[in-house]
Amino acid sequence: MLDTVFSPIRIGIIEIPNRLVVPAMVMNYCNADGTATERYIACHEAKARGGWGLIITEDYAVDPKGRGFPNIPGLWDDSQIAGHAELTRRIHDIGGIIFAQIYHAGRQTGAQVIGSQPVAPSPIPCPSVREMPHELTAVEIKEIVEKFGDCAQRAKRAGFDGIEVHGGHGYLIAQFMSPYSNKRTDQYGGGLMNRLRFPLEILANIRLKAGSDFPVMFRISGDELVPGGRTIEDTRAIAMVLEEAGIDAIHVSAGTYGSGYAITPPAAVGHGWITGYAQEVRKVVDIPVVTVGRITDPLLAEAIIAGGKADLVAMGRASLADPDLPNKAASGKYEDINFCIGCMQGCMGMISLYQPATCLVNPTLGREEEMMIRPAKAKKRVFIAGAGPAGMEAAMVAAKRGHEVHLFEKGNRAGGQYYLAAIPPAKGEIASFIVWLKKQLDDNAVSMHLGTELTEEMVSREKPDVVVIATGSTPLSLNVPGLKGHAVTAHDVLGGTVDAGKRVAVIGGGMIGAETANHLAHHGKRVTIVEMLPAVAQEEQEHVRLFLLKELAEKDVTIYVNATVTAAKDGSLVIERGGKRETIGPFDTVVTAVGLKPCNELQSRLEGKVARLLTIGDAAGVRKALDAIAEGCRTGLEI
Ligand code: SF4
Repeated sequence: MLDTVFSPIRIGIIEIPNRLVVPAMVMNYCNADGTATERYIACHEAKARGGWGLIITEDYAVDPKGRGFPNIPGLWDDSQIAGHAELTRRIHDIGGIIFAQIYHAGRQTGAQVIGSQPVAPSPIPCPSVREMPHELTAVEIKEIVEKFGDCAQRAKRAGFDGIEVHGGHGYLIAQFMSPYSNKRTDQYGGGLMNRLRFPLEILANIRLKAGSDFPVMFRISGDELVPGGRTIEDTRAIAMVLEEAGIDAIHVSAGTYGSGYAITPPAAVGHGWITGYAQEVRKVVDIPVVTVGRITDPLLAEAIIAGGKADLVAMGRASLADPDLPNKAASGKYEDINFCIGCMQGCMGMISLYQPATCLVNPTLGREEEMMIRPAKAKKRVFIAGAGPAGMEAAMVAAKRGHEVHLFEKGNRAGGQYYLAAIPPAKGEIASFIVWLKKQLDDNAVSMHLGTELTEEMVSREKPDVVVIATGSTPLSLNVPGLKGHAVTAHDVLGGTVDAGKRVAVIGGGMIGAETANHLAHHGKRVTIVEMLPAVAQEEQEHVRLFLLKELAEKDVTIYVNATVTAAKDGSLVIERGGKRETIGPFDTVVTAVGLKPCNELQSRLEGKVARLLTIGDAAGVRKALDAIAEGCRTGLEI
């Protein structure tokens, strides 16, 4: 089934053993001076061991003023080479192939990161960063060209098998190539060949300093997806020019920071949504073409390559979720692949805060050594109450360490309330993590007791060594006159236990309320959201929220913000906003989504009655699934 994916291909002088590529992704794992850390090296080692054909590192800044994030790697100075040489040595020892991506962020950075004004071809701020850049002079442009060549040479000296020049995603090279950001009137502005002068000078300088046979890829956005930006027609022409200039492969992505959703698309975007750009480029060049863009499954990769759309497939977040994906696919262990669910919580959610990247479905990401599963010193009998993701994760890790684990769930389905998160549109992939966890529990002999609530009596009778309470949370109720007995919860709606009727009010426009409203609107309901804060779904990751708000608007969901419900009567709601009172409705159903509270009654009943009692996840305090699952993993390691 995966014959094409697991066939070799050449990029310049290097043979890549299979077509699965780890693309560059900012992880924020390096030291602030751009040198490598053990954490940075270990996360690449996990991927090399996992069988990826080619690993492309995150962006190595060619200049400290070109860093877009505070903890990315750099090769702007010889002193940085040694640590990155250690990285390549360890990847090569495993048999992996690794390219360094090199870049300059241009205007897509700010003083908070680089300590000075950013630079750009023209003095136009990035619409996302919003800092006025300094317009580069011709002399300064030449200096940056030299820095790219120097950086490539250092990458070669550090032992990298090749480099990828980042000319996409709106960074400095892309800024020069696009009339969207390049308004110059000198030899670097104007027509296409003038706008290509900067990357062509860079490629020539790299060849001069790193040699004619050092493999060089070029990354480009097929379409910038911004008003007045480059389109796929421009990209096809540019690809031909770059091939002529001697690049060995081209990697076709999409977007700039002005269309950031295109760089890291959320689950609302279809799998492989930009493979058409790669296909268009492939029609006009003879070098290998790499595609990317929410491709999470090796079968999709096979279909893309076998269908002639691209030669290699980059699967970024899929490699964070499961670094062993290629080996599992190659050995037919398809059901063991832990798929990326497109949640954005651990990856984009963290790096946009300049924090190290994590992953919701893979808590060991970036903590490979710290969270390595090692056999327990003594086998224990472990009872876990609650088969939500925190409880399941704890059970899986504890069982892998050799403990006897019993998992009790009072409902009839594994996944707890996390399962309900999979119900709204574009959220279905969330369920795949539950399916994966369940398979791991089966494979590791965890005794699953569905429809069974763990009680004090059972614990007294069975005397387990450890009890873990992972019983999650329960919805808060809203104390408003007239509402008692006349409202249901978002959990009732998502769980399919109520029929909401035609006209629905959702009180509370946080993530759960807004997603529930979207679910209802997609099922033909006329939905109104009432939210106390100035905006809805504020805790959603930026790109996820963008699509959610778009869908709410398309479905004509009425949204009242800065509004408080003060009373309910005869199916209508009285709300106050801006000092004014008004009545809205009537509604067939009022849904509340006003927060959650821990559900942990068992804890007080077991206090002092078991050798070890641990409370985790929402049962210990309501938190994001990302944090609850990481806590489950840590708990499994500590028992
Ligand atoms: Fe995928 Fe979510 Fe993990 Fe990011 S945090 S890699 S989106 S599963």
